[in-house]
Amino acid sequence: MAIRRLKDMEVKGKRVLCRADFNVTLDKQTGQVDDDTRVTAVLPTIRELQARGARVVLCSHFQRPKGKRVPEMSLRPVAANLSRHLGREVPFAEDCVGEPARAAVAKLKDGEALLLENLRFHKGEEADDADFARQLAELADVYVNDAFGAAHRAHASVHALPRLMPARCAGLLMMKEIDALAPLLAEPRRPFVAILGGAKISGKLQVLKHLLPKCDAMLIGGGMAYTFLKAQGLPVGKSLVEADLTGEAAAVLEQARKLGRTLLLPLDHVVAEKFEAQAPYRVVPADGIPDGWMALDIGPRTVERYTQEIAKAATVVWNGPQGVFELPPFNAGTFAVAKAVAGSQAFSVVGGGESVAAVNEAGVSERISHISTGGGASLEFLEGQKLPGIAVLES
Ligand code: AMP
Repeated sequence: MAIRRLKDMEVKGKRVLCRADFNVTLDKQTGQVDDDTRVTAVLPTIRELQARGARVVLCSHFQRPKGKRVPEMSLRPVAANLSRHLGREVPFAEDCVGEPARAAVAKLKDGEALLLENLRFHKGEEADDADFARQLAELADVYVNDAFGAAHRAHASVHALPRLMPARCAGLLMMKEIDALAPLLAEPRRPFVAILGGAKISGKLQVLKHLLPKCDAMLIGGGMAYTFLKAQGLPVGKSLVEADLTGEAAAVLEQARKLGRTLLLPLDHVVAEKFEAQAPYRVVPADGIPDGWMALDIGPRTVERYTQEIAKAATVVWNGPQGVFELPPFNAGTFAVAKAVAGSQAFSVVGGGESVAAVNEAGVSERISHISTGGGASLEFLEGQKLPGIAVLES
């Protein structure tokens, strides 16, 4: 079903409540925003609303205050950051509902924006509470959701609230995410290569199963590869294995065979005796992980093989590092894959907090077609789940 878009909404002179994802990181010393990627991602929507004469009421969750007022989890530093970006003061309301919010909204003029305090200071937010949603609904005439990163959670500001607001739509960032991710599941340009990794197979099983029939090749690395090796009866030493999921791993291998899909597992591994940066390491073949050693990265032959596959792709999706990239030198495989994805002609989508960090650290983020701003949300999207915050925006 079609998602309602911002361009189709009448917003001039209207109070527009825009749900954003301002779950930023703060500098421990200064208490100011230090990584404002999430703020800058929502600026196009805010600027468009301002240019069209809307009265913009911004709201977001921030960290996990669990329904209590926690001063260190106030969104106030984000108001300062927004003011800098927008070149004019963005007032801050001390609460997201009640008198402080109503008074601040009443003062807004056309083209101005303000920020409400952390939604999660109220228990009703995470509880998807109808009464809390009603209090938010009172503040606005139009609802815009630009918080893709929160779209997988049925919380009040993304689920109960929009259902109370007949004039509701997706913001520009939300649409950018949907427009990049939806074709991967519908009609990807072929060959379509999916690269999966990360710590555990348990977290990726649903996405593995959903993408396998849709892709042409699936490349697997990271900790999750070792449950597959174990399922094949290969030695895994002390590598990360989820022994209870070897049956599921074997079933995925069988499904790939039946469907005629290329499913590649590491051809070699970088192994170490300790889970430690700079630990002494060696490269061993696929079936050569010694007892007492753990595989912490894919090896150079794997990188070469995966690079060949990525180079042929017209569409690539990547979620999950190929090794323990936080501990050099076990970052080499992940960085090499990041560079291969960036160097390919394919339409490339990278999702998941760790993979996004890896493409940033590898210095190749500019050459990725779409970097998702939602880790959990992008994974659930690729699992084929209907995200509650998106479903409610369908007309
Ligand atoms: P995930 O959140 O499931 O995508 O997992 C990301 C984490 O997987 C990163 O912190 C990596 O350090 C970890 N990881 C990747 N490869 C391995 C491996 N071979 N052994 C243990 N952990 C790994």
